[in-house]
Amino acid sequence: MPDETRRPLDFETRQIHAGAVVDSQTKSRVTPIYQTAAYVFDSFDDGEERFAGRSGYRAYSRNENPTNAVAGQRIADLEGGVDGIVVASGQAAIATALSALAGAGDHILATRSLYEGTREMFRGVLQRQGIEFEYVPDEADDEEWATRFRPETKAVYTETLPNPLGQVVDIARIAGLAHAAGVPLIVDNTVPTPYLWRPIEDGADVVIHSTSKWLSGHASVIGGAIVDAGRFGWSAQAARFPQLTQAPRPGAASFVDRFGRGAYLAYVRSVIVLEYGPTVPPTSTFLLLHGIETLSLRMQRHVANARAVAEWLEARPEVTHVFYPGLPTNPYYERARRYLPDGAGSIVSIDLGGREAARRFIDALELISPMTHIGDVRTLALHLGSTIHAKLSADEQLEAGITPGLIRLSIGIESPRDIIDDLERGLRAAAG
Ligand SMILES: *Cc1c(COP(=O)(O)O)cnc(C)c1O
Repeated sequence: MPDETRRPLDFETRQIHAGAVVDSQTKSRVTPIYQTAAYVFDSFDDGEERFAGRSGYRAYSRNENPTNAVAGQRIADLEGGVDGIVVASGQAAIATALSALAGAGDHILATRSLYEGTREMFRGVLQRQGIEFEYVPDEADDEEWATRFRPETKAVYTETLPNPLGQVVDIARIAGLAHAAGVPLIVDNTVPTPYLWRPIEDGADVVIHSTSKWLSGHASVIGGAIVDAGRFGWSAQAARFPQLTQAPRPGAASFVDRFGRGAYLAYVRSVIVLEYGPTVPPTSTFLLLHGIETLSLRMQRHVANARAVAEWLEARPEVTHVFYPGLPTNPYYERARRYLPDGAGSIVSIDLGGREAARRFIDALELISPMTHIGDVRTLALHLGSTIHAKLSADEQLEAGITPGLIRLSIGIESPRDIIDDLERGLRAAAG
């Protein structure tokens, strides 16, 4: 049956089938919710094999659950990676991915325009654990980047399409800089999803997702994912990454020796997730899998609606600025065309000129939900300065581009006419 000359399956097919197997006992077509904590050993010897990770079967659901395994493989497949794992949230995915590479005394370089929750974790709990984070302006030139790497630098961290302002990041250039310094590139690809952008094709080594957003797509679950591109040359950086390249104890094999291209994800799964336990419930993963099955359809509609809304907003006098890299007037438009030919995502942010106008806008909305979150089928609106960025001082907000009148819209898949009618209601109120 396998025909080597057959062309690979298309994205729209793999989003439904990748990773799924028909359950051998029940013949269930849909991946079941394996709501179980642990798995029975066939024998004494089988227990030993499973604990050593040498058996194809599982021992304990903290890091291995069949429902979760299908989702990890499916997301890895869609991203073009060799292996993936789903965890409890996007935040858990970031903390887990970094903990596998860095610890006290280590250094991470990050681009400046990151999701605020990520920045909060970097300056909060991870810094208290002794990891130093250094920010580089997204557009810093190659010479400036080169001066920032140190022997203890363990990764470069960035996002493909940062929210709320949509400064499309030149992933291929940053991957080149990281690799020249012997360091892997970790990319959070939550906002475009693999349907619009697959950063592994541009050189990313690890891809992160908050699956709470577009991948699950219906604002019903929290989850995260980590995908390993399987391309980073850990062995050439043996001193930097001894946890992967050196034997954990005398006589044992290193992760690179045991798992080859899958060494990083095997370490994440069998050490970091096992030790920290950022486990996602398989009930959540069941909903995630159903979301992924319609990802391409929803993303097409999300980007078509976002483009229509952004164009409409740009012509409105109440709006002092529209941030959407799919607009020809946007400074990132050319880069968006290169990296995001099928659409620049569905986050459209607007500046209404001041906090009071923003308040009147939010309070006048009827269809659009005022809430934190992005990537829902419903259209959502959030005033950033009073919510996500409220812990920052006024100066820090401005430095991050968060003006007092800034509102983030996550454009849903409703009728674009109805979204625009509600925005019109909000803008009329904003104008007073
Ligand atoms: C929401 C989000 C996260 C955090 O994900 P949770 O699932 O909410 O923990 C991380 N990165 C980006 C880009 C996000 O939008």
